Amino acid sequence: AKWVYTFGDGRAEGQSSMRNLLGGKGANLAEMSNLGLPVPPGFTITTEVCTYYYDHGNQYPPELEGEVAAALEAVGTLTGRRFGDATLPLLVSVRSGARASMPGMMDTVLNLGLNDATVEALAKDAGDPRFAYDSYRRFITMYSNVVLGVEHHTFEEALEHYKDSKGLTLDTELSADDWKHLIGQYKAIVKRELGEDFPQDPQAQLWGAIGAVFGSWMNPRANKYRELHNIPASWGTAVNVQAMVFGNMGETSATGVAFTRNPSTGEKALYGEFLINAQGEDVVAGIRTPQDITEAARIESGSDKPSMERAMPEAYGELVRIYGLLEQHYRDMQDMEFTVEKGKLWMLQTRNGKRTAKAALRIAVELAGEGLITHREAVGRVEPASLDQLLHPTIDPKAERKVIATGLPASPGAASGEIVFNSEEAEAARKAGRKVILVRIETSPEDIHGMHAAEGILTTRGGMTSHAAVVARGMGKPCVSGAGSIRVDYAARTLTVGGVSLKAGERITIDGANGQVIQGEVAMLEPELSGDFATLMVWADEVRTMKVRTNAETPKDARAARNYGAEGIGLCRTEHMFFEGNRITAVREMILADDAEGRRAALAKLLPYQRQDFVELFTIMSGLPVTIRLLDPPLHEFLPKPEEVEAFAAETGLPADKLRSRMNELHESNPMLGFRGCRLAILYPEIAEMQARAIFEAAVEAGKTTGAPIIPEVMVPLVFTRAELDLVKARIDAMAAAVAEETGTRVEYQVGTMIELPRAALKAADIAGSAEFFSFGTNDLTQTTLGISRDDAGTFLGTYTKKGILPADPFVSIDQEGVGELVKLAAERGRGVRAGLKLGICGEHGGDPDSVAFCQEVGLDYVSCSPFRVPIARLAAAQAAL
Ligand code: PEP
Ligand code: MG
Repeated sequence: AKWVYTFGDGRAEGQSSMRNLLGGKGANLAEMSNLGLPVPPGFTITTEVCTYYYDHGNQYPPELEGEVAAALEAVGTLTGRRFGDATLPLLVSVRSGARASMPGMMDTVLNLGLNDATVEALAKDAGDPRFAYDSYRRFITMYSNVVLGVEHHTFEEALEHYKDSKGLTLDTELSADDWKHLIGQYKAIVKRELGEDFPQDPQAQLWGAIGAVFGSWMNPRANKYRELHNIPASWGTAVNVQAMVFGNMGETSATGVAFTRNPSTGEKALYGEFLINAQGEDVVAGIRTPQDITEAARIESGSDKPSMERAMPEAYGELVRIYGLLEQHYRDMQDMEFTVEKGKLWMLQTRNGKRTAKAALRIAVELAGEGLITHREAVGRVEPASLDQLLHPTIDPKAERKVIATGLPASPGAASGEIVFNSEEAEAARKAGRKVILVRIETSPEDIHGMHAAEGILTTRGGMTSHAAVVARGMGKPCVSGAGSIRVDYAARTLTVGGVSLKAGERITIDGANGQVIQGEVAMLEPELSGDFATLMVWADEVRTMKVRTNAETPKDARAARNYGAEGIGLCRTEHMFFEGNRITAVREMILADDAEGRRAALAKLLPYQRQDFVELFTIMSGLPVTIRLLDPPLHEFLPKPEEVEAFAAETGLPADKLRSRMNELHESNPMLGFRGCRLAILYPEIAEMQARAIFEAAVEAGKTTGAPIIPEVMVPLVFTRAELDLVKARIDAMAAAVAEETGTRVEYQVGTMIELPRAALKAADIAGSAEFFSFGTNDLTQTTLGISRDDAGTFLGTYTKKGILPADPFVSIDQEGVGELVKLAAERGRGVRAGLKLGICGEHGGDPDSVAFCQEVGLDYVSCSPFRVPIARLAAAQAAL
């Protein structure tokens, strides 16, 4: 094998495609060299050496030493210097460089090769002793810290102490002699800390640094990072050794970093900072304030220090030339590191730059506009999940935040408002035109109206799939859930955390992007849906093959979803409509009725409301499919809370004890596995009949005004055998016939089912005999396949993902191996019987990019998700089709 690859002087043995072997940094240094850019010569020790090293008990391949010596010789030839030479010493930097940039590993050692002899040579050669000693002291500190493990602050303290004793404040005020004196102290510190002298032999220094890079690949921080990001340890890191160029050789030298486009806005303009007479670590350390690169940026920042454009016009011009070249070559925004040595520009690194969602969008669209990439490539350049950042108001990054607690980032966006502790107050405040944040220990279906009224929701209990989280995401409202350090006292109407106590009416802000709870109001930025966003969405739609629908039941949500590009409704959860206005009273009457007749009477009151709801949905979704699901949840969810029984009895005239006894009867140990779903329609067919009537009558009515035909899809929930579906379908068909008879208008419709129980998936062939479509209810399917409650699995699921037992929260991203297997099998078995069987998904996973990709693989016709995730699903579906 070849273990070492050289680069420099317009040539290289490697290239950018050899990232796996050379690491990101090494591959790009080679590429820049090949492009003829000014790159200080050097060489890369491959990632295979790292792998070899760990496979062979920390031994290097026997050929390595010779290859390194030869490469070092070649670098010397190009620079006219020799490593360790007493007149013209070659100095090098040593840097790590894995395939993916990896924090936690050894980063950089500069000025390697300096010792008591070579420092004198450097001083003489450069004609600048101060520069030489400054470089040497930097080397001792860096090397001692990252290679030998001496704490950095030990040297800092010595430096501060020395400056104090001399009455100096800035490093720049220290003379050559000062540094020389400090170098003595530094060496003494190393001797004291390690019991050994600082290594004077350049070869020993070099191999020490190489060993430190390979050693850092397995340090706990790097291991942790790899674990979190699924990076295999077998990848290994490369080591880059490169001739030093000096940014600290006086006023014509500098060091800096620059992006070819603004990484936060995406604007096409060189963006970055540099420091005159400095080395790389000074920029990072933040001791001196860096200067702007362009004059335009300097004017904007109001800095009184000159820009690079003014201070070093030639080097700046060269940087501008190179940045254009690099963008053309890599066809993406670049993040570059450079050094100017006595007026000459040197490139030390380039890579695709990290960017915000907003910048990613703008850059992708503009690169396509400039003809550098195709529309399809642009579609692949934006992370679908990151669109979340763009679809909600966000906290102005410049604003100050007084964070009082942190919970889970349950639903994105930020919101400010007055604290309210219950849904009634939320509604009242809303009506009075005030903005509120609903603060609850946890929420229940009864809080829906309060959640609607609030700007955002904060709970102190519950995970990412708690009621509050799921409903808030559905509504597109910011939510922070499970902020466990906050104590809520409903009676006192206060929340307390740390030393802070806030009363109802005081203002807070929540940030659903990171789970922060902030005292007071904070400045916000509004989302931008036109422009680049709209453009990219059009390109995504050109690529995509799956349809994207929405889960919605209110006109407001349905309209919002259409705005976001939804192509119909994939799930209308009719139960949510039962909480609107005073319908809940009729619902309760229905539940409490003694017989079918009593139920019919109560249902008759609900019919006009339901019909009107559907007319509105059909009208908004004119020409698009609308899937309406029959009533699904266990009935007890509609009943009053125990403490409300008396009031409810008084209001309705029903006896309180009868209410209580009915509530007892309905009590179930496992309501999610209980009397719900199609089981309701089988025992109480009149419920399904009322809903079916409302659907068909609404279709007739809406059809008169919309022009386009309305094709309702009636969906039966929680089926596990065909016989259930057959029973309910018979009622639906009969009602369709009755309505056709009464109105003289026949409505086209489909009857299908949800697949949300493992048995339903297994019996899909059977069930498809009666179903015209399947919609995978992956919330329940996950719950019943894994035997994990979707409502309160938070206590252990976190540990499961941390320990890697599950790759991700299965309620957020579909468990492809298990639940996914059932989906795949049901799709195959169903289509085996009915070729045109329409397949969709309507669980929370329909808006999760990884799950959307999986749906494409399985061949689903559409995904359905909450309105605010429609754009995410559109982009994810497009990427899945690329
Ligand atoms: C599901 O189970 O995935 C589903 C969409 O239904 P719900 O969440 O209403 O139970
Ligand atoms: Mg369900």
